[in-house]
Amino acid sequence: MPVVSISMPADLIERLDALTAEHDYTGRSEVVREGVRTLLEEFENDRLEGRELAGIVSVLYDFGTQSVERRLTQLRHDHEEHVASTLHGHVDDYCLELFVLEADLETISQFVGRVRSTEDVQTVDYSLLALDSVGQLRDVTSSS
Ligand SMILES: [Zn+2]
Repeated sequence: MPVVSISMPADLIERLDALTAEHDYTGRSEVVREGVRTLLEEFENDRLEGRELAGIVSVLYDFGTQSVERRLTQLRHDHEEHVASTLHGHVDDYCLELFVLEADLETISQFVGRVRSTEDVQTVDYSLLALDSVGQLRDVTSSS
């Protein structure tokens, strides 16, 4: 494969080398390749379009805010065919609602948008995983 040279601060190289040793990577290149793949996956949403995704959406709101609870229940019902699982728990003084969705990017984006636009929701976070890529990153890195 082609070789590229990159510059980075000395302290970053030190941390890179420590990570390489701690996690048994074969070298700096392997760590950098994996980091780049992770970044591309995160920011290139084009790559996720048209693919079946697992989406994990977490919602945090003040304990027992009934307007939010009603809204989230409504959302769950509206997306019944896409919601694989939900979990409700409590952290500190907050309710934490976790949704596991199985849908395409557009559906998950709409879902996240509706949660974000809900009044009194404190934070909304999500992560996406393309179901057809499960296991591929591991295969690539372990064979190089
Ligand atoms: Zn609660």
